[in-house]
Amino acid sequence: MKQISILGAGLVGSLLAIYLSQRKYQIQVFERRGDPREKGYIGGRSINLALSDRGWKALEKVGMAESIKKIAIPMHGRMIHDLQGNLTFQPYGKEGQAIYSVSRGLLNMELIRQAAQHHSVQFYFNEKCEEVDLDKKTIILQNTENQQIKKINSDLIFGADGAFSAVRLALQKTERFNYSQTYLEYGYKELTIPPLSNGNHALEKNALHIWPRKSFMLIALPNIDGSFTCTLFFPYEGNPSFARLQTTQEVNDFFQQVFPDAFALIPNLADEFFTNPTSSLVMVKCRPWVYRTDIALIGDAAHAIVPFYGQGMNAGFEDCLVLNQILDKYQDNWEKSLQEYQNLRIPDADSIAELALNNFTEMRDLVADEKFLLRKKIEAKMYELYPERWTPLYSMVTFSPEIRYSEALAKGKKQDIIMSEIMQLPDIDQVWEDLILEEVTRRLS
Ligand SMILES: Cc1cc2nc3c(=O)[nH]c(=O)nc-3n(C[C@H](O)[C@H](O)[C@H](O)COP(=O)(O)OP(=O)(O)OC[C@H]3O[C@@H](n4cnc5c(N)ncnc54)[C@H](O)[C@@H]3O)c2cc1C
Repeated sequence: MKQISILGAGLVGSLLAIYLSQRKYQIQVFERRGDPREKGYIGGRSINLALSDRGWKALEKVGMAESIKKIAIPMHGRMIHDLQGNLTFQPYGKEGQAIYSVSRGLLNMELIRQAAQHHSVQFYFNEKCEEVDLDKKTIILQNTENQQIKKINSDLIFGADGAFSAVRLALQKTERFNYSQTYLEYGYKELTIPPLSNGNHALEKNALHIWPRKSFMLIALPNIDGSFTCTLFFPYEGNPSFARLQTTQEVNDFFQQVFPDAFALIPNLADEFFTNPTSSLVMVKCRPWVYRTDIALIGDAAHAIVPFYGQGMNAGFEDCLVLNQILDKYQDNWEKSLQEYQNLRIPDADSIAELALNNFTEMRDLVADEKFLLRKKIEAKMYELYPERWTPLYSMVTFSPEIRYSEALAKGKKQDIIMSEIMQLPDIDQVWEDLILEEVTRRLS
């Protein structure tokens, strides 16, 4: 039986362990952090995440959707908060469609628990990969508690060790390996809206809240304990920026002015602001993802993207699902399977990276723009009347796992051209209902 080593017991590494154990491989997972089942989850990244259809599909395939649904809160749309605290609700899709807020820590623990139930999966925590000898297929690990060094040989190695992957670092030294890393000029900071005294949520629970302020934004996702985790996406430099908010007074004045309703709900604003880290936003692209026939990258190690489409984890989960389908197709011939895996997934990862970056402007600026909202309304009507011809881009990405990210991007670009023309028609806000929408949708084919 093949011995497979997975580096990283994050979201994708643990799901991959479940998939591969169901194919009867012997799996070892090495994780530099402690075991979250013993110590609680100590994460470096966002507290909660939006899980959508691509992620659900990958979880369903291994029988995990039901248990995760229990810890997930549906968000049916965006709740936009304007400068005066007025609210507007924009549904994400059709009735019944939602994305789900889920705690990263609980999700990760549940995945580890499930994976560990398989006899063929062994987890090793506090094991940090220091180096990978690609040619010998040896991983060199250092225990973070007793500093002991281990060398592990395996038949196959997966790098699921996130945006700063040690496996990828080893690949970077190989011939013709392409790699790019780009930081945004923006960072993010997490803040908390605690539950009300009766334990309820202080804002509408079934929505993703956004305070769009053109060059920056605050968002909030609900947690099952009644709180919300807010994330401020904000420039590092300039005015306004993290650099300009240096004192309690400056932070309070700024929030009171630009996010008045949120300000009233964050009791420990300045404390949290100065205690919680300001984290950076990085995009990583690389290729190939596969070295020879036995070393491969998956999840953020292969494609770290910005979080504005809520798709990074979903894309990583989809990597696992697609790899599994390919292994079925080639009856576990790894040489063929890994080739096809990267051929299919690299263009999709590039596409969601582009879409995610574009969506930042949409979230922080356009969602508050009248013309943009009208465009969304027209597209929603076309989707309702002719769903087989016109699916809005957001729905393709979020609710249509049968459409590849690369197809969604290509169709979205065509839709953009058509809709830009439509939106320039005189008095479009008054005449749009008289347009022959069927003809508009036909232009897409
Ligand atoms: C602010 C923010 C918000 C986000 N929101 C969303 C969202 O709403 N929806 C969504 O789908 N995605 C979201 N994402 C993206 C999502 O967090 C990632 O895509 C996802 O965590 C990738 O999972 P992963 O397992 O590939 O990597 P990670 O979650 O980074 O896990 C990698 C694991 O490898 C371990 N590791 C790293 N280096 C080593 C080493 N040398 N040796 C051993 N172990 C190692 C780490 O400790 C970690 O446990 C968001 C990201 C950010 C930053």
